Amino acid sequence: MRKIAVLTSGGNAAGMNMAIRAVTRCALARGWQVFGVQDGYAGLIARAEDGAEGGAENGAIRALQARDVGGILGSGGTMLGSARCPEFMEPAVRRRGLDNLASLGIDSLVVIGGNGSQAGANALHCDEPELSVVGIASTIDNDLEGSDITLGADTALNVALDAVDKLRVTASAHRRASIVEVMGRDCGYIGLNVGLACGAEAIVLPEVDMSPAEVAARIEDAYRRGKKHAIVIVSEGAKLRAMELEQILMADHCERIGFKLRTTVLGHIQRGGTPTIFDRILGARFGAHAVECLGRGMRGVLVGTHGGELGTTPLADIVGKIKAIDMSRVELARVLAQ
Ligand code: ADP
Repeated sequence: MRKIAVLTSGGNAAGMNMAIRAVTRCALARGWQVFGVQDGYAGLIARAEDGAEGGAENGAIRALQARDVGGILGSGGTMLGSARCPEFMEPAVRRRGLDNLASLGIDSLVVIGGNGSQAGANALHCDEPELSVVGIASTIDNDLEGSDITLGADTALNVALDAVDKLRVTASAHRRASIVEVMGRDCGYIGLNVGLACGAEAIVLPEVDMSPAEVAARIEDAYRRGKKHAIVIVSEGAKLRAMELEQILMADHCERIGFKLRTTVLGHIQRGGTPTIFDRILGARFGAHAVECLGRGMRGVLVGTHGGELGTTPLADIVGKIKAIDMSRVELARVLAQ
């Protein structure tokens, strides 16, 4: 009988639970045995004595039945837990994880996670090509090559947009300019799309920098044209963090911008949303497709969407790359904010 394991790794993203549920139930429906790995790669490499029960399970790798994944599809986060595990970069440490899987007779591993997690999945695939490794593209940042959209990005966008809409109400009541920092690591996907959707006067991205003087000019322009507020969206990977930008604007451009400034860093709020219907369905489709790929004997691939259709890309082709943002939206956002 086939035995597969599933884990979630790196930054949590809404919809991961749906993907775990889909992997588990689709595999069980084929008569396979399923194991959930607790806490990502940290659980995979845990020594048996770190909580082992021996036999068919160890402390961090436990059998999953259909009922074990019930009641989770509407929850953000991940029922398996996630972790960052820098030591997984070392081949000897990965070997411990491979040995743990082998000792339980597990022949396949589904890795649900973002760029770093898929680099880890590819490393496992290269270390042990006999293990069938399939990745599921899941990160709020939507920065993974190999999928138009990643699991969790839609929920994060909606959470961030909802927060900005609320901040705008207060900014408007008090004639303020609101600087809002959103997540995304080195990718401006969230910043760009939230900025476009909320009509931001200025959007500062890792890919498209904007000097403090230019931001000040945009805010000043909004003030002079009689706007009641201005919104500035700053991606966390931009040259200046939102707080630094506010300090420079206050120090060097205070007189001209008209509005009072307030800065909000949204932070991990963006990870914690209730999965949207988009992410729930995407999680279900990704999970089912990962099992389908394993059934077809595929290995070393990432499951993602291409033009809305499910597809796979070799993990080796996506490792170390960051997906480009749609630059036409930068110009569109600028024109529409006038
Ligand atoms: P995400 O998957 O959300 O991008 P991280 O970048 O933090 O999150 O990566 C998650 C984990 O993946 C890391 O803590 C590490 O265990 C593993 N990982 C990242 N890069 C590599 C790599 N080059 N080789 C092996 N494992 C890696």
